[in-house]
Amino acid sequence: MTKQEGELLARDLAVLAEVFAEPLTNVRLAGYVNGLRDLELATLREAMADCQASMQFFPKIADLRDAEFGVRARRDEQRLRLLPAAGTVQLSYHCGSCEDTGFDRGLSCPGDGTCKIGKCGQTPLTSYPHQYTRKCFCRATNPKLEAQRAVMRRKSQERAGAR
Ligand SMILES: [Zn+2]
Ligand SMILES: [Zn+2]
Repeated sequence: MTKQEGELLARDLAVLAEVFAEPLTNVRLAGYVNGLRDLELATLREAMADCQASMQFFPKIADLRDAEFGVRARRDEQRLRLLPAAGTVQLSYHCGSCEDTGFDRGLSCPGDGTCKIGKCGQTPLTSYPHQYTRKCFCRATNPKLEAQRAVMRRKSQERAGAR
């Protein structure tokens, strides 16, 4: 990520913090940017949207990295599907619900608080049908996600070791 992209990321994070009504000091903001600097801004932006849609609280760096991985996993799957041979390739998922991305997307909430997001259903203003994303129930047990997390852990240990 370039310095300029880092500044864009900081701005996006400040907006996200505002959405979650989370006080974010400049020091903390800089810490976030530092902790995410090795990732791609475009992917991170998508991950932030996922977090905004699915989380109750302002995401931690680990949450954002987690979501970022989900975005990339989703992209890989889409790419695989677009291959000319896609018809002959049988994609198999450990979890058919989230297709091993860890996020169930496109769920419908009638506006009665089913989604458990924000103040949904609590006031007339927040009672309207909408789509939402939530973390998949398979996250704790899905071997594919666990393997991805192991790779991430190793990478961050390598980064820590390189310092
Ligand atoms: Zn799942
Ligand atoms: Zn809802």
